[in-house]
Amino acid sequence: MVTLKIVQVGDPVLRQAARPLTADEIRSDHTQRLFALMRDTMRDTPGVGLAAPQIGEGVQLVVIEDRPEYMVSLAPERLAEREREPVPFHVLANPVLTVLDTSPRLFFEGCLSLSGFGALTPRAAAVRVTALNEHAQPVEIKARGWYARILQHEIDHLHGTIYIDRMLPRSFMVDTAYRKHWANRPVSDICLALGLHAPE
Ligand code: ZN
Repeated sequence: MVTLKIVQVGDPVLRQAARPLTADEIRSDHTQRLFALMRDTMRDTPGVGLAAPQIGEGVQLVVIEDRPEYMVSLAPERLAEREREPVPFHVLANPVLTVLDTSPRLFFEGCLSLSGFGALTPRAAAVRVTALNEHAQPVEIKARGWYARILQHEIDHLHGTIYIDRMLPRSFMVDTAYRKHWANRPVSDICLALGLHAPE
């Protein structure tokens, strides 16, 4: 399997606005190959989403997939509070995101371009996304919970925004500390222990 190198924070491409693609560009052999490479790179890492700037391409493309096997290490109550359910593989080109429910959801989030770190990051509870699929046909997605978080994270990448711009800085940590101290605790406990205000 061929995979791509994931660009790490500090590379200018992660801070630039990506450009939209034309329908012909989306259907081109080049872009179709890019979808497959992005899918394989995301699965190999593994991650639940990947945006084109993360592989050094300043275009408005994201791939998303949240597989059941990624959830086995999380307790059922942690999955329930995250509203996390499997999401099949799909491609979005030129996505436009609208927030449907502004009430904040606060959970740890990481990024393949900031490998080895994570932080509590507030996200809107529900979003609507319009985009083009891999055939350049229009699609509309309404998502809640973890899927809404993934969409917000990936589409942020297309506008040069990274989760560290939105995180609660006191909660920033290395993955090993997250797994050792916090992974399966309720967010309200974590906020208390880190000296943060619990979410509404
Ligand atoms: Zn990311």
